[in-house]
Amino acid sequence: MKVPFVDLRIQYESIKEEVDVSLKKVMENTDFILGEEVQLLEKEYARFCEAECAVGVDSGISALELTLRALGIGEGDEVITAPNSFIATASAISFAGAVPVFVDIEPEYFNIDPGKIEAAITPKTKAIMPVHLYGQPADMDAINEIARKHGLKVIEDACQAHGARYKRRRVGALGDAGCFSFYPGKNLGAYGDGGMMVANDKAVVEKVKMLRNYGQKQKYNHIFLAFNRRLDTMQAAILRIKLRHLDEWNRKRRANAALYDRLLKDSNVRTPAVAGYAEHVYHLYVIITENRDKLLEYLNAKSVFAGLHYPIPIHLQPAYSSLGYKKGDYPVTEEYSGKILSLPMFPELTEEQIHFACELIKEN
Ligand SMILES: *Cc1c(COP(=O)(O)O)cnc(C)c1O
Repeated sequence: MKVPFVDLRIQYESIKEEVDVSLKKVMENTDFILGEEVQLLEKEYARFCEAECAVGVDSGISALELTLRALGIGEGDEVITAPNSFIATASAISFAGAVPVFVDIEPEYFNIDPGKIEAAITPKTKAIMPVHLYGQPADMDAINEIARKHGLKVIEDACQAHGARYKRRRVGALGDAGCFSFYPGKNLGAYGDGGMMVANDKAVVEKVKMLRNYGQKQKYNHIFLAFNRRLDTMQAAILRIKLRHLDEWNRKRRANAALYDRLLKDSNVRTPAVAGYAEHVYHLYVIITENRDKLLEYLNAKSVFAGLHYPIPIHLQPAYSSLGYKKGDYPVTEEYSGKILSLPMFPELTEEQIHFACELIKEN
């Protein structure tokens, strides 16, 4: 038996007819740039996120960077975020011209620790960027409360949490804005790159629309210098079809997680905890184990493909050596980076595959 980490082909086979028809329509319409499908996806995705409006861009990192810029955050500013994320969370802050300031995570759910945020606030702090890591929302009420008290913006990095809920509300518009990635392996993935920003403030969304499209207000009327970071019409057409299945796919991920939880209950690994306020969408199913490297090697040798998210915390990445962080600065994140192991997780994973993986884990 083989258990891939993700399998995008099974899902494509299940929606192939719809996708083929829709792509053919785009080609016949030839509205390849910011076409009708982009506008429809923006409307539908905003509604899905319980947000007023949305704007499609070319990637998750663009959504984050352009949102920061649209909120007026840049040179001389600091943005608080978590060090245990994909590099793009922090590098979006850097590309906007600001400096990422890390705050360690709480030890239960792997998300930023609201109790440690205030100590990191300085006169330069302009925003907090919580990451809903692995598909579980950060504690947004606590974060919004701190932001309100200190006059800070809140931007959700929801790149791993499409459809997740915090206290019954969808993530995305719980703060000032939320950013999503449509990288193929994400819970809602394109067949290439893509991203989306959602917000309730129309003015911020309009600003991002200009930032993604050469600073244009109308065609050939450029208000400021800006980028080409547009979402492709073809990708939007695919994403519109996939969005209709997203809740069902997330439900299957939760069922897979529940089976992992049950089978690993009496093993010597720690299964992921779910906060009382969260509806987790399990972009990743991450266990904690004391002999991580050995277990990873063993599973891979038996064709059960596990992964690490992430083996090196952002503050210890060579790319950020100039910020002067050192080992020991974020002890919870650093300890976990040596103990985390992401097990295979995608909606179409079978019970047999999960049983097989868990048997191997229990042998260790
Ligand atoms: C995937 C991801 C991003 C970046 O998304 P891209 O579309 O690859 O640019 C940012 N933050 C997090 C937490 C991610 O998982």
